[in-house]
Amino acid sequence: MGNLIDGEIIAEKIKAEVNRDITSLNADGINLKLVAVQVGENPASAVYVKQQKKNCEKAGITYELKTIPAEIETVALLSKIEKLNNDRSVTGIILQLPLPEGIDVKRIQSSIHPFKDVEGVNPANLGWIVYGKPSLAPCTALAVKEIIDSTGVDLYGKEVVMVGHSDIVGKPVALLLVDKFATVSICHIGTSKAGMLEEHVRRADILIVAVGKANLIPGGWIKQGAVVIDVGINRVGDKIVGDVEFETAKEKASLITPVPGGVGPVTTAILLRNVVKAAQWLKKQ
Ligand code: NAD
Repeated sequence: MGNLIDGEIIAEKIKAEVNRDITSLNADGINLKLVAVQVGENPASAVYVKQQKKNCEKAGITYELKTIPAEIETVALLSKIEKLNNDRSVTGIILQLPLPEGIDVKRIQSSIHPFKDVEGVNPANLGWIVYGKPSLAPCTALAVKEIIDSTGVDLYGKEVVMVGHSDIVGKPVALLLVDKFATVSICHIGTSKAGMLEEHVRRADILIVAVGKANLIPGGWIKQGAVVIDVGINRVGDKIVGDVEFETAKEKASLITPVPGGVGPVTTAILLRNVVKAAQWLKKQ
């Protein structure tokens, strides 16, 4: 594999733990059930749903898709979530995005019970990251942390550059890593517009990119020996690529995640782990 980080291997380890935990929960009479809420039709989310169902069923988690007509209003959707919050047979809830225009996404996300919020989008769960005690955190952010941990790199005092500042990747990743005493810079569209992106990227001992623009980061910008984690997913012709110019970047990086096969499979495995964590907490209630 050379300097490639194999996300599948990391994912398999997580899934093995997940399987053990599920066996033990089942032995205690607890069955796991994940409900995915999808509002309206969306081809992109249909692909995710199919994948989630397959992965859950393989792990022994019941997966149910609730499809809700696109015309629903925020208040009516809130009461549907409330029903799932109160249903003891439901141990995890996923809200498929995007939601139709007009629905208050943040209000819906905050209505998911924090113990059932397996995607870590409720402000209470995001707040635990600020406190340095992440629990049900966003899956991709946890996947990035897991990948860094798997490399054995000591984050203390390292220059980390996070490109992208979304609520589910960039911001939580930065918080997770700053708590390990890395020096973390968060770059975004404003950094690019100011012409400063290259300068920041060149400094990075650990570079994480989550933007969604193919080849945004030329390989020549990568510091020799840096660890590069590419979260981006972009379709270019019939190929899926990341945000980093892979062929040139891998010549400079000490370790690099491929796309596909890097962050993606780890994120999928972390979702299963979050479903297990949620069920373990509910068991204690
Ligand atoms: P988002 O669209 O919410 O945010 C994009 C970020 O990129 C913003 O911070 C924006 O300011 C920044 N940005 C946009 N143009 C830029 C530029 N020219 N220079 C610098 N920064 C720029 O993104 P997201 O939801 O975090 O997703 C980012 C990418 O990661 C997407 O490709 C998405 O498909 C992918 N993703 C992958 C996984 C996975 O499991 N592998 C999970 C989630 C997201």
